[in-house]
Amino acid sequence: MADYPLIELYIDGQWKRASGQTIINPADESVLGTVPTATRSDLDDALAAAGKGFAIWRGTAPAKRAQIILKAASLIRERVDQMAAAMTLEQGKPIEQARLEILRGCDIIEWDATEGLRLYGRVIPSEPGMRHTVLRQPIGPVAAFSPWNFPMSSPARKVAGALSAGCSIILKASEETPAGAAQLVRAFHDAGLPAGVLNLVFGNPAEISDYLIPQSRIRLVTFTGSIPVGKHLAEMAGRHMKPAIMELGGHAPVIVCDDVDPVSTAAASVVGKSRNAGQVCVAPTRFFVQENIYEQFAHSFAERASQLKVGNGLDPSTQLGPLANARRIDAMETLVTDAKTKGARVLAGGQRIGNRGYFFPLTVLADVPDDARAMNEEPFGPLALVNPVKTLDEAIEKANALPYGLAAYAFTRSASNADRLAEGVEVGTLSINHFVASVAETPFGGVKDSGYGREGGTEGLQCYTVVKNVSHKTL
Ligand code: NAD
Repeated sequence: MADYPLIELYIDGQWKRASGQTIINPADESVLGTVPTATRSDLDDALAAAGKGFAIWRGTAPAKRAQIILKAASLIRERVDQMAAAMTLEQGKPIEQARLEILRGCDIIEWDATEGLRLYGRVIPSEPGMRHTVLRQPIGPVAAFSPWNFPMSSPARKVAGALSAGCSIILKASEETPAGAAQLVRAFHDAGLPAGVLNLVFGNPAEISDYLIPQSRIRLVTFTGSIPVGKHLAEMAGRHMKPAIMELGGHAPVIVCDDVDPVSTAAASVVGKSRNAGQVCVAPTRFFVQENIYEQFAHSFAERASQLKVGNGLDPSTQLGPLANARRIDAMETLVTDAKTKGARVLAGGQRIGNRGYFFPLTVLADVPDDARAMNEEPFGPLALVNPVKTLDEAIEKANALPYGLAAYAFTRSASNADRLAEGVEVGTLSINHFVASVAETPFGGVKDSGYGREGGTEGLQCYTVVKNVSHKTL
């Protein structure tokens, strides 16, 4: 049995125990431990620490900052096995996926750390005797809220971005999957990060965001999670004139043109869809397949989906772990029943597996009507919806029909199709002929209801800065 770590608050460089809610293993519904609840006074301490930490960190040379951040990443790489086991216990994902998430988190931390050395300003030419210098400065203490589906890489993105740009941060990570964030923070502590620069709290999410966001010390809000919560937090940030990075939900379309092999594309789709049991904001969900290859694609997809090994993520042969919580099982059952009632065909899966642990198979529905709830609401689970289209234009129109605009995928051998897709699909990230939606060096984020601001890449780091123009006239 893998060990699950003790979860504590981390404020001003000190670990603090406290009582709180239980953490459940989604594979067998056993109790793993408890997550501490921060009191109002803990939050006040975290705010004071983040204020003090910012003064220290912004005054630290970028090269020294990068050294500490890179040291934290190297400690995480050394601890990857132990961290991965804890994340599989709390979140359910197969152990190899947990390892990959951590290593990807390290890639992000390392890329941001070195990019932090290159947050240059500009000198703008002007009339003689006048010089305009644009400084790019760290924005200040950040309030960050990370979700349960990527317990390590989501907080890592926020922490790496803030710290690499010279900001301090108060991270409120998920209460349901706290170990990923706790172990991330421990690595920064062990790497010698000055006290106060990074603080970790847990508790009642609404109470914490309601309290932190309006505080004058907080200069930026970053949130990853659902659209309704994102809109609520963005409103609050707006009321208090704080910029925000909002990484919200998606309902990614996948456009499969008839110039590709339907069988290998279906195989790749099963891998893409089953990652983290579909509990991914960029999960491929609405498959629009050109008529000529539709039936072959749909049946290959269903056949491969049915062959996935479902089980406890700690078993290395597991390909599909449990869903992270009982809410996701309820959502899958509701969406599948609704789609079936409206005429969708169930080609694979469709029903919960067993009644202990939150297991649900990769479910493939075909001919799903546009008014089925699953076609309009983010499933956030192992549900793939496959529908035929006649033309690329029809596929693009359907892809753009929802208020979501996070990720999209397309498969084609035609450069002209690829150009039309790049121009026409309304998303923050489009991947052609593969299912990787973001890497450390590229900006990631949404349009429309999927949010604004970017994480990753140069654009991501810039979100943690403000520009100041200094206009200097020679006397
Ligand atoms: P939810 O809307 O209750 O919560 C989503 C996340 O926001 C959770 O991590 C939660 O702790 C946090 N949260 C909720 N209220 C908050 C508040 N007032 N202040 C700060 N944080 C708050 O939904 P859920 O059941 O946990 O997750 C299901 C839905 O959330 C999915 O359908 C999906 O759309 C979305 N989600 C998206 C992502 C993503 O990566 N974009 C991640 C997790 C969940």
